[in-house]
Amino acid sequence: MINSDGMNAEGKLLYEGKAKRVFASGKPHILRVEFKNSLTAFNALKKGSFENKGHINRDIASLLFQELNKEGIASHWISNAGDVDMIVHEVKIIPLEVVVRNTLAGSTAKKLGIAEGNVLAKPLVEFYYKDDALADPFVSDDQILMMGIATETEIQELKLLAQKINQTLKRIFAVAEIDLIDFKVEFGKDHQGRILLADEITPDCCRLWDMKTQEKLDKDRFRRDLGNIKESYEEVLRRLKGKLS
Ligand code: UDP
Repeated sequence: MINSDGMNAEGKLLYEGKAKRVFASGKPHILRVEFKNSLTAFNALKKGSFENKGHINRDIASLLFQELNKEGIASHWISNAGDVDMIVHEVKIIPLEVVVRNTLAGSTAKKLGIAEGNVLAKPLVEFYYKDDALADPFVSDDQILMMGIATETEIQELKLLAQKINQTLKRIFAVAEIDLIDFKVEFGKDHQGRILLADEITPDCCRLWDMKTQEKLDKDRFRRDLGNIKESYEEVLRRLKGKLS
């Protein structure tokens, strides 16, 4: 609840999602996000978990947010706390999943009848409307405008940010000998109306293929029952840590 200072009491659970919990921090406009060990796919029809996932994903996300910050991309990340928590700026999430594709994979490759692994001449930015009940449908720019989700200027800003994030992430992962196939990011607005990169960037929401072997090091291992899920997430963190520290 809101305390006498107009802040939510420290430790109060504000929201629980599929892979994270959000708590009040006791400070205005600042929240604490806890990364859980759970894992879901296909709009939560498939559920799983593995030990230490929360810690691995928290560490991967914070490393990437910090690297992006160095490139001038502002995110909600402030600091890490404990093993699985992140202190973040409070934002109101813009209900769009912003997907960037460098290589076609997954359901999109299937839908378009193009083989998985087809490298795109130019990165593709797509928007999906964040609504579990509707299974996150693809939305066009005009549909976004029609629904009042974002203005024309904001749509252009999101596209530009997505391209910039892609360039930086592609470079970082390449150093770790990983191909960034595609990824999904979310943005939010802080109390001053500033657009910040939010949510997470982890193997849960990226497709990451080993550059040499093309082995999948991401959530597709869970979606497709390929095994070694934990080992793959650990490998991504190990390689990033080795190259970024
Ligand atoms: N993605 C995500 N959450 C979603 C949908 C997609 O994190 O609700 C990520 C997914 O892990 C992949 C990228 O966004 O890295 C593109 O996913 P795609 O649209 O190809 O979906 P899929 O093939 O999983 O249906």
